[in-house]
Amino acid sequence: MTAASVIIATNGYSDSLVKGLKQSVLSLYSKQMATDPLSESEIGPILPQGHMISDTKRLIMYTRREPGGQMCFGGIGFSDRRGGFGGFGWIEKDAPETVPSRKGVKWCCKWSGRIALTEDRVPHLHGPAPDLIVGLEYNGRGVAMSHVMGRELARRALDTSAEDLPFPVTKIPSYKFRTSQVLGAGLAMAVLRRRDQMEWKSDA
Ligand SMILES: Cc1cc2nc3c(=O)[nH]c(=O)nc-3n(C[C@H](O)[C@H](O)[C@H](O)COP(=O)(O)OP(=O)(O)OC[C@H]3O[C@@H](n4cnc5c(N)ncnc54)[C@H](O)[C@@H]3O)c2cc1C
Repeated sequence: MTAASVIIATNGYSDSLVKGLKQSVLSLYSKQMATDPLSESEIGPILPQGHMISDTKRLIMYTRREPGGQMCFGGIGFSDRRGGFGGFGWIEKDAPETVPSRKGVKWCCKWSGRIALTEDRVPHLHGPAPDLIVGLEYNGRGVAMSHVMGRELARRALDTSAEDLPFPVTKIPSYKFRTSQVLGAGLAMAVLRRRDQMEWKSDA
């Protein structure tokens, strides 16, 4: 069987399958962890109306309660290591500082995945060859955006003209200074994190 068109939607996992795609993104790791269900007396006073909270720091962190009473905490890093520098160690340290009453809480589940950053911080739709359609690069906000992109990729595959799509069909760009950014990501994020922490402490 022969496909009429092929859609590539590999986002932060883009590799050498399509020439230049890997070089168009900077892959980082978004990570989350959750507690076992907590009792109402434990979680109730923290997020009494079920709000989710998220901050405006350079390295974003967020926390929320799940309908089952689990507490989730998330952030960003540059590796999927279980602990340590740039791995889960960062959010494990941040969580009790954000919610002091949860010091010592056990995080039963931890998971992470790659997100794709672009230089211009917006998603892209590319057409590197006839009937080869690429849509990706949500800069960590792909839950909604990837669905919109998915719809437009399908419309493109069904012969909607490039002019009638809400995304411009662009050439695959090269992320400037990507290699040095990949190599320097750990250090750069550690510096940003340090600056966040210093501001946080001086505001407290
Ligand atoms: C822990 C975490 C929390 C997040 N929180 C949020 C949030 O709160 N809000 C938000 O908007 N976004 C969030 N994101 C980001 C969001 O999940 C992504 O932006 C979104 O999943 C991107 O969707 P996608 O389908 O483009 O790519 P992905 O979901 O990354 O899927 C890419 C797929 O391509 C596959 N693939 C790669 N190479 C090949 C190949 N050669 N052949 C076949 N398949 C291949 C991979 O296996 C993968 O399944 C979060 C991500 C993580 C990891």
